[in-house]
Order: sequence, then structure tokens, then C-alpha cells
Amino acid sequence: MGGPLIASEHTASYYAATANNLTRYPSLQGEHRADVVVVGGGFTGVSAMLHLAERGYDVVLLEANRIGWGASGRNGGQLIDGFVNSDRIEKRLGPDAARITYQMGIDCRQIVVDRISKYAIDCDLKFGYAELALRESEVRDLNTWFEEKERANYPHEMRLLNREELRSVVGSDSYLAGLVNMGNGHLHPLNLCAGEARAAASLGATVFEQSPVVNIHHGQKPRVETASGMVHASKIILAGNAYLGRTEPKLAWKIIPAGSYMLATEVLPTELQKELLPTDMACIDLRSALDYFRLSADGRMLWGGMCNYSGRVPRSIEGSLRPSMQKVFPQLQDARADFTWGGNIAISLNRIPQFGRIEGNTYFVQGYSGHGLAPTHMAGKVLADIVAGESEQFELFSKIHHWGLPGGKWFANPALALGMLYYRLKEML
Ligand SMILES: Cc1cc2nc3c(=O)[nH]c(=O)nc-3n(C[C@H](O)[C@H](O)[C@H](O)COP(=O)(O)OP(=O)(O)OC[C@H]3O[C@@H](n4cnc5c(N)ncnc54)[C@H](O)[C@@H]3O)c2cc1C
Repeated sequence: MGGPLIASEHTASYYAATANNLTRYPSLQGEHRADVVVVGGGFTGVSAMLHLAERGYDVVLLEANRIGWGASGRNGGQLIDGFVNSDRIEKRLGPDAARITYQMGIDCRQIVVDRISKYAIDCDLKFGYAELALRESEVRDLNTWFEEKERANYPHEMRLLNREELRSVVGSDSYLAGLVNMGNGHLHPLNLCAGEARAAASLGATVFEQSPVVNIHHGQKPRVETASGMVHASKIILAGNAYLGRTEPKLAWKIIPAGSYMLATEVLPTELQKELLPTDMACIDLRSALDYFRLSADGRMLWGGMCNYSGRVPRSIEGSLRPSMQKVFPQLQDARADFTWGGNIAISLNRIPQFGRIEGNTYFVQGYSGHGLAPTHMAGKVLADIVAGESEQFELFSKIHHWGLPGGKWFANPALALGMLYYRLKEML
């Protein structure tokens, strides 16, 4: 079904360099049996594994590289609630479905926070997050969202800040207003992912790393194969997201893998850290190709952005990110970049994560469209629920029709790039 993949170690990111305990699980050898086999050791797969292990299932997880090797160990670390835009769900599936997805959005962030505390995962969790407006129309959007959340009894403290007040959060002249949310925040994603895998293993789950799955057999006798082993299971969970590629062609054509990139500066003087982000919040702007930034626990600026839909890694990540970082923070002109890296996200055309089933006993979720740290944790729970019996949420999401792209993902990127260009032009006008 798929070609052999070559296993690799972590990309040279700030997270890999500062991980408090990198995982070293063996590679799969020989034949194994389990209730459930999970393919992919990012947040989706690890979260599903931990939910299943907590319920007493015998789970085997196969990761092609290392736990957290994909987007989960490389991302901005911004813990942001919300699952999907409930308005879109309401239009397609009605008000009850919208209520369920709204609650999923609140709960997904809570799963992460509860796990960190339950398993004492050391991953630099800090609360405080700000959405930043660059244009008047975005200021109006922030006001609307704030009012909507107040009406919906949103459970976390929120504050709308005007330009002057925002200086207490972001030391930059770039933004017109901000919406602060004290329920969201930021963390070290690779340490979180590895910590959750360790928690699952402590409950009896079995993890194999450096074990790319090359063949998946659905149907009566489900099993997955690597070059040196095989796992038989009653159920298969596919959690490879943007990296699953040709391993399961039935899924590849539904999503577009797009690149997002990050830069970590050298450790900044304490005074400068306080000037740039006085309250140590995570920040994003509101454009479709957004800038996202925060301080790391050791005082670096972690700057991300430049989602690229062409599938091409820029020749210089620093050269591409530095201008936008210095536009917002001219104070960083002389700050050295110690790390630059990128990762793949999976975009679905309607920006709704894709839940589904292949031949009865293989389940998958993919297509978080760049906002996945918290949603993957809900997806893992929903997958565990469906394996265990019923899940209203899984059934609800699997009703949503997802258009694929003609020609499949290998031909799709130019079309998507054009579509994204349209939205960016609209923002500029
Ligand atoms: C640079 C960047 C910044 C981001 N910032 C944020 C952010 O701040 N906040 C936020 O909410 N979201 C963010 N995201 C998105 C978020 O990281 C993802 O939505 C989320 O991590 C997806 O998790 P996942 O487990 O589904 O996929 P991944 O983490 O990509 O994991 C998939 C795993 O499957 C494995 N795999 C694939 N094929 C096989 C196979 N054949 N056999 C075995 N294993 C296989 C891969 O090796 C990989 O480890 C960002 C993403 C990127 C790239």
C-alpha cells in the first residue's frame, strides 16, 4: 500500500534541544497482538493511546520516527481552546451539533491541563494568551467575539484591551487592540507529548519508535506491517495527519500538507523580555497566514509564521521570518537566531477536522488546519470512545462531507496556493 519510509531523529528545533527527557522506545520486531494499534505518535495518536490505556485496553503505538517528531513536537506551543467554528457546524448539522462542538472546544483545552497535572508532566505550562488586531475590521471582530463569549458563559477570564492598554501585554506599536484570554496559554509541546506517551506506557501501553508502517490491511483481520514486524489488532487508529502520506492513499487526497516555520532567538536579557512581552503571554494576529509568538521558558523569542501552501521549504527560514518579527519588534534587530525549523500541518478545505472510518474497523482523524494542540486531545478521546463503543461526537463529525482535491494532494497545492492568495489579497484591500 505504501512505500518504505526512512526513520529519522528529531528535527533540530529549540524543543528537541531543550527536551527534558527524549523518548527511546525500541523498534518493532516480529509479530504482536493488541486490542488497538495506533499509527503515528503525535498528539492525536498519543492522546488516543493514553485514553485507551486509562480504560484498560491493550494498545500498541507505532511511530515512524520519535514520539512528537511531527507537528506535535515542533509547533508554537500555543494552547488554544475551540474545536471548530460552531457557526459552520450549525449551518451544516443544526443547533444541537453546534452546541456539542462548542463544548468540545472548551473541553479540549481542559484535557491538556488535567493531564499535565494528573501525570505531573514538566512542560512549562503558563496561562495567558492574546489575539491581536492589525486592522479596524479586526478590532470589530474582537469586540463581537468577546460579546458572544460573554453571552455563552465562557468559563475563563477575558479582557478587551485598546491600543494603550495593550502595551501592558505586547511591547509593540503594530497592533490596534487585543483580546486577552486567561484560560489559554503556552507550553513546551515536545515535553508534553513525550510525557503523555510515558504516562500511557506506565499504564501498560506499548510504544515502538523508528517503526514506519508500510502496509495496512483493513477488513476481517486488521493488521499493520513495518519492514521488520507486524501488529494484529481488532481496531486500527490512523494518526499520521500531514505525515501519513502514501501509507494510506484513501486519506491523502483529502488534505493538503502545508508548511509552517519557527525561529528561536538567543536567550534575551531579562529587561528586553519584559519590554517585549511583559506578562509572558502567547500571542497571535488574526490573518490567515498569521504571525504567532511567545517567550520560551528560558527567555527566547519563539516566532512562528509564514504558512506556505506551495509545499516548498523556503531557502532561508530565518530570511523569511526575520522581517515580520523585526517589523513587530524592532528591538530584536540584533538578536541572534539560535534555531530555525518547520513542520507540516494538514489543511482540510472547510477547516473542519476530518473524522472517519475505513472498512469498519479503521478509524482516523486528520486536518486540524494549523490549530491542533488542544483539538488533537479531544480527537484522541473521541477515537477512544468510538473504539470502546459509541461516540456521539464521532458520528456527528463523520457526517460532514469533505471535498477532496482533484488529482489528489500531489497536484493540489497550486490550487490551494491560489485560494489562499485570494484570502490574503482580501485582507490587504
Ligand atoms: C510550526 C507549527 C506550528 C504550530 N503551532 C501550533 C500552535 O501554536 N497551536 C496549535 O494548536 N497548533 C499548532 N500547530 C498545529 C499542531 O501542531 C498540529 O495540529 C498537531 O500537532 C497535529 O498532531 P497529530 O498528532 O495529528 O500529527 P503529527 O504531530 O504531525 O504526528 C503525526 C505522526 O505520525 C507519524 N507517522 C506518519 N506516517 C507514519 C507511518 N506510516 N508509520 C508510523 N508513523 C507515521 C509521523 O512520524 C508523526 O510523528 C502548529 C504546527 C506547526 C507545524
